[in-house]
Amino acid sequence: MPKSSSQTPSATSSVDKAAVSQRIPVVQIATPSTKIHVREQKGVFQRLRQHSNTLLIAIFFLIPFINYQGRQAILFDVTEQQFFFFNITLWPQDFTVLAWFFMAAAFALFFVTVYWGRVWCGFLCPQTAWTFIYMWVEAKVEGNHHHRAALDKAPWSLSKVRKRVTKHAVWIVFALLTGCGFIGYFMPARELYVDIFSMSSGFWTGTWVWFFTICTYLNAGWMREMMCLHCCPYSRFQAVMFDANTKTVSYDAERGESRGPRKRSQKTELGDCVDCNLCVDVCPTGIDIRNGLQYECINCGACVDACNQTMEKFGYAPNLISFTSENALKGQPKASLLSLKSLGYASALLIMIVLIISDLSHLSHIQLNVIRDRQTLYRQVGIDQVENSYQLKIRNKTQQMAFYQISISNDDPQKQTLQIVTDSLIAIKPAEQLDYPLTLSGRLSDRTSDSTQQTVQFKVTQIQSLENPTPTEPANEISQTSRFFWP
Ligand code: SF4
Ligand code: SF4
Repeated sequence: MPKSSSQTPSATSSVDKAAVSQRIPVVQIATPSTKIHVREQKGVFQRLRQHSNTLLIAIFFLIPFINYQGRQAILFDVTEQQFFFFNITLWPQDFTVLAWFFMAAAFALFFVTVYWGRVWCGFLCPQTAWTFIYMWVEAKVEGNHHHRAALDKAPWSLSKVRKRVTKHAVWIVFALLTGCGFIGYFMPARELYVDIFSMSSGFWTGTWVWFFTICTYLNAGWMREMMCLHCCPYSRFQAVMFDANTKTVSYDAERGESRGPRKRSQKTELGDCVDCNLCVDVCPTGIDIRNGLQYECINCGACVDACNQTMEKFGYAPNLISFTSENALKGQPKASLLSLKSLGYASALLIMIVLIISDLSHLSHIQLNVIRDRQTLYRQVGIDQVENSYQLKIRNKTQQMAFYQISISNDDPQKQTLQIVTDSLIAIKPAEQLDYPLTLSGRLSDRTSDSTQQTVQFKVTQIQSLENPTPTEPANEISQTSRFFWP
């Protein structure tokens, strides 16, 4: 009787596990020294990956072209030091929100990893997406994996030169588009594409675009799996997040071993693995998943599709290689999402989300910095009048013209001893900072104490207009404390 999946589970479990593990060949994993010519594979997971990668790439290129209120909706304006996200404008002092956001993204990734393993690597990582696009171009120009391997070995000919030039030209154009796409998040994208392709961009713009073009070309065209194997930190520490319930691409050794070739209808005592080597041929990182969990595996699912194809041909049950967990392979109960690790990551993620919401809801649209005149503590005008001078740096953080009223309050609200001498109604252009000199005056006869200084609070309130100084709805104001000095 062949030990195929048509057998009962009890028959399968009767296999001596120790004996099975002894029959699994121990292979020294080494970085492939020759270029991997990945065999093209179709299947459920490849379709899923293609769709997710297409969506990701489309989003990447399209986002900079979304406009909001007449300007690019998402833009990190490095020269103006502003980050636009639809109607939110973040300034460098607001960048804690971005820090929370990146931390939230990291915890979300950790949370997903605990249960679904390296699903990010296989289906969403830009490195994978761009590498598969480059491999697709390579296959279109040079043919399937056999043709590509043969072309590598073939002597230089007109046909080989033509294929190589075409492939690299397409790669470079796509890399250039990627460079523009990326830099389009940092400067107006529409002008950028026109400037780059009409070769009229400025020096630094061109330098940055070409820098990312070269990075993309080398990364996706040449380095490919080397990035995952040697440069990506995530592949190194993701194992820390794994537990026995983490779903990852796994080979069912108990069912598959002993492996060996056979004819389709042949009865055999061997395991279900027919040793067709398809799972290795389709692997973009060149590993053999039958050797167990390896950090090189990006969980792309190509070997799952390849093996299922073989299982179908031989009339065996699918999923000899599958996305499954260690516990599921042992036949233990289904994993729960509520493990200690996932709860910890979920809590951290929740905290980050609360911090983001809190920071955004407290985001002020005005920035105020009050600087006292450092030269003179006070100035006595006549017998009874004392003046202090200040420099108010007020920034309109919105993208519209705004009007403000400056007011003060003393530490003794019962007795307003100080007045603003200069004009207290001002207008500031969108996203501009106004350095506004302001003088406060107080009467010696109105002093509330013998102290030579008193606290004064400056308040800047956004108003409807200079003619109508009623506060805007919702209120938009900011205050800062300084000191007023007496003789
Ligand atoms: S072992 Fe399978 S899932 Fe892992 S990278 Fe290779 S083909 Fe993809
Ligand atoms: S594809 Fe499946 S049957 Fe073929 S070698 Fe890999 S594990 Fe064995």
